Amino acid sequence: MTKKILVTGGAGYIGSHTCVALIEAGFEVVVVDNLVNSSIESLRRVEKITGQFIRFYRGDITNKADLKRVFEDHNFYAVIHFAGLKSVADSVEFPLRYYQQNVFGTLCLLEAMQQQACSKIVFSSSATVYGEPASLPILETFPTNPQSPYGRSKLFIEQIIDDYCQAEKQASSIILRYFNPVGAHPSGEIGEDPLGIPNNLMPYICQVASGQREFLSIYGDDYATTDGTGVRDYIHVVDLAEAHVKAVDKINQVDQVQWFNIGRGQGYSVKDLIQAFEQTNGIRIKTSIQPRRDGDIAEYWADPSLARQELGWKATRDLKQMVKDAWHWQQKNPKGYEE
Ligand code: NAD
Ligand code: UDP
Repeated sequence: MTKKILVTGGAGYIGSHTCVALIEAGFEVVVVDNLVNSSIESLRRVEKITGQFIRFYRGDITNKADLKRVFEDHNFYAVIHFAGLKSVADSVEFPLRYYQQNVFGTLCLLEAMQQQACSKIVFSSSATVYGEPASLPILETFPTNPQSPYGRSKLFIEQIIDDYCQAEKQASSIILRYFNPVGAHPSGEIGEDPLGIPNNLMPYICQVASGQREFLSIYGDDYATTDGTGVRDYIHVVDLAEAHVKAVDKINQVDQVQWFNIGRGQGYSVKDLIQAFEQTNGIRIKTSIQPRRDGDIAEYWADPSLARQELGWKATRDLKQMVKDAWHWQQKNPKGYEE
């Protein structure tokens, strides 16, 4: 029988790519999303790519009645939990909103799962839970020390899920700590669609390339890194989506909770990314060196070998593929899903 997966936040950037990967792997997908940071059009595009209908509920995970409706209509094999707010800067300004949406939202979700005896959850965590690492690459066993309300909301949720899985015999969870997801589906049908001015590097580069922004600010060129600019572990969103399929495949063998870093294990600087974009896509990116951005860490990248050993997952798409697919999406959808 086809296994049914509930994808919370499935209309979002990573969620929509994961819906494609799940459907291609033979799962049935149901999405709940309040569309606060996404568009229903993303799911129409997922349907276009896969040729499969997606059952969609416009609902809020902090609303127990919304969740009850979803769980009463279906029997889920597992939940993949993406729904939440993700801006570090906003979380500093509006911490209560972040704890309400992310932490309370997850409590509501776990309660709804418990009531319907749905006991498996894959959770979207983030490398930001590590804070400034003492050494590189980062292993799952490193101490956690998140530096923002957003990062702390992720860590609190990890701990809540852990406590829940200790208490409930049947429950199990896989927690994926993503490094820096970028790029888009190679079809150019789905991709990252930030509201307003992008905070993240890749969407900003794309908007400079398309003429929507004049230049890219490089936040600091005086870090103790290879070329002075910040270094991150960029990972293609389709590789990341595939990690979720592997996690769902593995979850019934997990005893309580397992944590995995999801990255490529390779650091690239801001200048590396710009150069790869320029060379691959044949477009110059105008830049301006600016002061460091508050709260930024000089460099970090993952040791993803645990995911390779235990999940049988490994990222296969390189930086060139990431910048190519990001630009393809941008060119095909200059205004995101709005058109
Ligand atoms: P996104 O904003 O594109 O997707 C999140 C989705 O959740 C959106 O569709 C939004 O409408 C929905 N949502 C938000 N609050 C909700 C609520 N209360 N009820 C129902 N739906 C709600 O973000 P994304 O980049 O796809 O990230 C997905 C998850 O991965 C998030 O939890 C994020 O924190 C985490 N994550 C993202 C990154 C990244 O760089 N993109 C890195 C690490 C972790
Ligand atoms: N960055 C930059 N200009 C921008 C956005 C980001 O120079 O307009 C840098 C940032 O300082 C960091 C890297 O690009 O070194 C990745 O930033 P992003 O916001 O994409 O990811 P995060 O900081 O959350 O890892």
